Amino acid sequence: MAKPADTRTAGRKPVAKATRSTAETEKIRAALAARRDELRAEYDQTLSEITELQRERLTDSAGDDQADTGTKTLEREQEISLANSILERITQVERALERLDEGGYGWCERCGNPIPVERLAAFPSATLCVTCKQLEERR
Ligand SMILES: [Zn+2]
Repeated sequence: MAKPADTRTAGRKPVAKATRSTAETEKIRAALAARRDELRAEYDQTLSEITELQRERLTDSAGDDQADTGTKTLEREQEISLANSILERITQVERALERLDEGGYGWCERCGNPIPVERLAAFPSATLCVTCKQLEERR
């Protein structure tokens, strides 16, 4: 018994209500990729700040009183939680890119209309179009 054929050809996905042009999809992909690169740079920056803080703590903690040490620990914790939230956003953008390849990205979850490219570029995790978002907020 042969295994079921490639799922991609076997079970075709239902066609979306509307279609995007290839150019538009590419625009979204470029916007998402640019956002991901931006976030990665931000992440690297934050990581080096954490390393810097760490080094400061190790090198000049000798003359520190407890208050200094406390401040540095707090700073470091803030940097770490910032780094984590950036990482989360990177993951979101990467997921968006995957869904874009599958054709499941960029459609409003409520009305099924395409979400404008500009909106997706600004909010890669947006799942509603502006109109639906406003309706949702008004409730
Ligand atoms: Zn909508």
